[in-house]
Amino acid sequence: MTGRALLLNPGPVTLSERVRRALGRGDWCHREPEFAALVQDIDARLAAVHDELADGYEAVLLTGSGTAAVEAMLASFAPAERSTLVVANGVYGERMARMLTAHGRPHRVLAHGWLEPVSLQRVEQVLADDSAISHLAVVHHETTTGRLNDLEALGRVCQARGVQLLLDGVSSFGAERLAGRDWNLAAVAATANKCLHGVAGLSFVLARRELWQAPPPRPASVYFDLHAYHRGQHGDGYSPFTQAVQIAFALQEALAEHAEQGGWQARRAAYRARAAQLGAVLADLGVTPLLPPAEYSSILGSWRLPAGCSYQELHATLKARGIVIYAGQGQLATDIFRIAHMGDLGPADLARIEAGLRAALAGARR
Ligand SMILES: *Cc1c(COP(=O)(O)O)cnc(C)c1O
Repeated sequence: MTGRALLLNPGPVTLSERVRRALGRGDWCHREPEFAALVQDIDARLAAVHDELADGYEAVLLTGSGTAAVEAMLASFAPAERSTLVVANGVYGERMARMLTAHGRPHRVLAHGWLEPVSLQRVEQVLADDSAISHLAVVHHETTTGRLNDLEALGRVCQARGVQLLLDGVSSFGAERLAGRDWNLAAVAATANKCLHGVAGLSFVLARRELWQAPPPRPASVYFDLHAYHRGQHGDGYSPFTQAVQIAFALQEALAEHAEQGGWQARRAAYRARAAQLGAVLADLGVTPLLPPAEYSSILGSWRLPAGCSYQELHATLKARGIVIYAGQGQLATDIFRIAHMGDLGPADLARIEAGLRAALAGARR
């Protein structure tokens, strides 16, 4: 490997030295007041990341990956008496439907092809036809393809119809616009190790303050009962179960760094600049994007593998230079590769990535 690893997979990300150093802050017990204060500080910082959520939403921290936070959100807020409409156009939307099935929660799935944008017309139709639906679950940035789902439009539909939005914001929190009341957002789930540039192992859910006051009569899960976390963390600061202490040190540092660097808008701008730079290189090499360029998030791009170039080969050539890219999932596994723009990457790192892509794909130009 040459130099430090450059992770272009969609989390975990390349850490800044400052965040890595925080991991070594010390050996703390999770049942001591200093850790309770740390968790309360992290919850407050999480609620402040998005200006539009700062007023009226409260966070809880959970040990587990992003999937744990999404599952906890659904276990704690998807209704048992009414129904949830899952709008899916990729792996992560489909995963939410699997969770609701596993928890025995009433739901309907509005399935889309993985390359399709969400059809507002179909959503409106289902909501008009099915009066049992009180909640809509959707992924903000569908990492399967890099598509930023149009939450501005979907959120307006939720707002207009009084449908509560349950959002998988795992790969957008901290780097794309998130609205609260405008989208009738009930809750959003996300993780430490994507756009926030923390370490993998902690995740979190923000929910509207009123929803924390009304715990369901029968929680769908013991570990994932977020109301129990909220009672603890927003009471004396303790959580029901052991938290990942050192990863919390790193998350606190990552949140401080995120704010100092200019918050989510600055992070989005940085990601967009990386996307433009690497996109220009790939276009020059004759590589084409999977989606229409305007439909991508700032966070990740998906590219068609050039004819005669296998993912394994491309991955291995880049890996030998210390650069890690990501494969397509499922039906896209043999057709595409993905490049995420997250992590602590400077101009020299971008230059290394550019050189790596040119070396690996030079033969693809026609
Ligand atoms: C990464 C990701 C997840 C969760 O993945 P984990 O591997 O559990 O961290 C969920 N949803 C989206 C959109 C993601 O990008």
